[in-house]
Amino acid sequence: MALLEKLKTFMGGVHPPEHKELSENIPFEKMPVPKEIFIPLSQHIGKPANALVKKGSEVKAGTVVAESSGFISAPIHSSVAGKVTKIASGANLSGYSKEGIIIKPDEEQETEKMSLLNPATITPEEIRNRVKEAGIVGQGGAAFPTFVKLTPPKGAQIEYIILNGCECEPYLTRDFRFMIEMPEKVVSGLKLIMKALNVDRGVIGIESNKPEAAKKINEAIKGDPTLSVEVLETKYPQGAEKMLIKAITNREVPPGRLPLDVGCVIQNIGTAVAVHDAVAEGTAGYTAALTVTGKGIMNPKNLLVPVGTSIGEVIEYCGGLNEDAIKVIAGGPMMGFAQHDMSAPVTKATSGILVLTKEEVNNTEETACLRCGKCVEVCPLGLLPTRLSRLSQLEKYEEADEIGITVCMECGSCTYTCPANIPLVQWIRLGKQAVIKLQRENKTA
Ligand code: SF4
Ligand code: SF4
Repeated sequence: MALLEKLKTFMGGVHPPEHKELSENIPFEKMPVPKEIFIPLSQHIGKPANALVKKGSEVKAGTVVAESSGFISAPIHSSVAGKVTKIASGANLSGYSKEGIIIKPDEEQETEKMSLLNPATITPEEIRNRVKEAGIVGQGGAAFPTFVKLTPPKGAQIEYIILNGCECEPYLTRDFRFMIEMPEKVVSGLKLIMKALNVDRGVIGIESNKPEAAKKINEAIKGDPTLSVEVLETKYPQGAEKMLIKAITNREVPPGRLPLDVGCVIQNIGTAVAVHDAVAEGTAGYTAALTVTGKGIMNPKNLLVPVGTSIGEVIEYCGGLNEDAIKVIAGGPMMGFAQHDMSAPVTKATSGILVLTKEEVNNTEETACLRCGKCVEVCPLGLLPTRLSRLSQLEKYEEADEIGITVCMECGSCTYTCPANIPLVQWIRLGKQAVIKLQRENKTA
């Protein structure tokens, strides 16, 4: 590439230190079966699944233990062979207690697989059914059931399937490892998603800080004219749906609308791998691929973890915390959630466990707003973070709604850049929840 050639990107955004070096060269490792598994019935956006097992039920890895309870829902499979000991409420990564199935694993692990299907001859309907049966959910954070994304409304015109290979959250490297270690599966999953939606244009967006991943994926594409790799500027949040669409297609998703409205469907790299595994290997979505990293963990790793394993057990498997560790986050540092209960289990969409030290956490005190406008400059959606945060603090929800609080994607760029250390996104998130609640109440009334 010519030195002066500009990489595609979006307006705004920030450049936090990447820290990928802690784990990017560590291949995936399969974590052994833990002492106990707690599988939450709600691991996706939408209705929680309904438990199909009870105390004493015997299951294998891959047995369906909870069925989908509506269109936006997904079945759940056991991640181990063992005996159900209880259906109970327990800690969850969201911070709220949630109901789930507790399983004591057997010493001998048996697996139950779905039938194998041929990716070359499978029909679109068979792909959708298999993705539904396998309980696959989006692995980019929101955990939206993938089957629903593969079932667009009648008349929808889709031109692009875009795979998000940006992994723009600092520290996380699991998508990078997927692209390096199994590029053929990534490409096969993308082709299956394209077939399910009858689309003949697939693009994999990869940030410029991952040239090795772009090379591997380009090799796996093998000159297929329907596929291409787009190398994008390394900038947070390049992997957010709207930013990815803008960078790759130059289309803008209007506030309150979906990627589908501009002819695009976005999927995560891990989701493509899960679709391939469900079709070609008969494996359901009961393993979480995640990066355990940060300067507070003894041995950073990229792990394949049985869903339902506690984050405490995952941390222990990585050698435990070192003496400087002060904060555990589920996910990345920009959009992840701080954890206080180490018994909370890993779910299908957990992408990372990050352990930060004092040196990595910003402990500077909050001061008054300096009116510097930096938060406005970096907001990729052109919002007014300082105003939204203030209105949320004052509980002026109607006004906040009028200036687009619900449009905020909670990327945290504003908080990251604020020299006064105002927790802008935290206030905006609270205000957004209140506005959505009000909207629902008004609708019901
Ligand atoms: S207001 Fe929302 S979308 Fe804009 S930078 Fe802040 S968190 Fe991101
Ligand atoms: S970045 Fe912080 S200090 Fe600057 S205007 Fe926004 S809220 Fe105020």
